[in-house]
Amino acid sequence: MLLYNNLSVTPQGHLAVGGVDTVDLARQFGAPLYVVDEDQLRANCRTYVQALAEAMPQGSMPLFAGKALCFKGLYPILKEEGMGADVVSPGEIYTALAGGFPPERLYFHGNNKTDEDIAYALDSGVGCFIVDNPQELDRLDEAAGARGIRQRVLLRVTPGIDPHTLQAINTGRIDCQFGVPIETGQAAQFVAAALGKEHLEVEGFHSHIGSQIFEAEPFCDAVDILLDFAQAMRTAHGFVARTLNLGGGFGVRYVESDPMVDIPGNIRALAQHLKQGCAAKDYPVPRILLEPGRSIVANAGLTLYEVGGVKTIEGYRSYVTVNGGMTDNPRYALYQSPYTVLPASRMGEEGDFLCSLAGRCCESGDLVQENITLPQPRRGDLLAVLTTGAYNFSMASNYNRLCRPALVLVRGGQARLAVRRQTFQDLVACDL
Ligand SMILES: *Cc1c(COP(=O)(O)O)cnc(C)c1O
Repeated sequence: MLLYNNLSVTPQGHLAVGGVDTVDLARQFGAPLYVVDEDQLRANCRTYVQALAEAMPQGSMPLFAGKALCFKGLYPILKEEGMGADVVSPGEIYTALAGGFPPERLYFHGNNKTDEDIAYALDSGVGCFIVDNPQELDRLDEAAGARGIRQRVLLRVTPGIDPHTLQAINTGRIDCQFGVPIETGQAAQFVAAALGKEHLEVEGFHSHIGSQIFEAEPFCDAVDILLDFAQAMRTAHGFVARTLNLGGGFGVRYVESDPMVDIPGNIRALAQHLKQGCAAKDYPVPRILLEPGRSIVANAGLTLYEVGGVKTIEGYRSYVTVNGGMTDNPRYALYQSPYTVLPASRMGEEGDFLCSLAGRCCESGDLVQENITLPQPRRGDLLAVLTTGAYNFSMASNYNRLCRPALVLVRGGQARLAVRRQTFQDLVACDL
């Protein structure tokens, strides 16, 4: 098996994804190219939808975190699969609605929603706001009142959990810019303020503890803290939370040494923990929302690059240059994220050439991966970087005025273009 079982090798020794030859994809659509296996993506959605439906109270639902991957053609898929969606900006709201996604299934995040953002989201009929701070409560209450509506909200709190991941992608600790901490007593004041708002309907609480989490334990810890907090709020205000949103964060396998995450098993364990916790407090079991981003799209995606050349620095190392890099995948430059790289056009050959993959930007940090082995690379070889479905397309830039790659969806052995490659005209489209 090649990291994930939607990958295979054709008789010509080419890498195939979802049954489609990647060499054919590069020939048809060019490289660099983002490829997303729609069958895998749909299967990942179903895993969450079914596991939540089976183990959790009615109304429980996964919300896809759009920051991981966001383009118009994704939203009809999410809608069909019964997902809700997290959005963090009016641009994400616009994209979801342009893709025909029902606004009532949108959950609007953000630690600095501007007055324009709030107005746009309210006028779009966004189902629920995840309120980050007391100032947002005031602004949202005012804006909802001006429209004569009562807006559903969840209150974002920080439970103070460190799930032992990278600090840059770890948001459950108290010292962070998202949400209101429970431990300092500020979250209790936040709830009191929210319950006093005439135009807001508080549904419950939200917490997001971090990313690349491989087991249920950190989520169970978050549930313990949230239930204690919910109990205290019931005692203080008679308020009962109907919904707990536990955020995103289940991990994915980037390299062979990463574990496979048992998502249904983790959700069952979490459900059992939740029900026991509620029973002990005689608290009505709230519905559960999860916000998976990475674990829905990462392993559905891969990126194809063409090799430009090889440069060996005598006594140091060899660089293999590809026709993309930090502009389409900034994650190695940002966090030294590990990825698996395969010689997509030469899968049958022995990989004994030690090298680092360099992008094409004028930036020494523009590396895709270091210390990998490939068959002695040649100009024109096709390489595949696996598991790039999350936080690649969505974090891409036009640095060095490089055009963003196209994105193709593969389903049932067929490929279709979902996002076309940018052109030079696109690069100057906003320039006056
Ligand atoms: C980033 C984020 C997510 C998604 O995290 P993944 O690790 O991609 O699952 C969900 N919710 C919030 C609030 C986030 O910030």
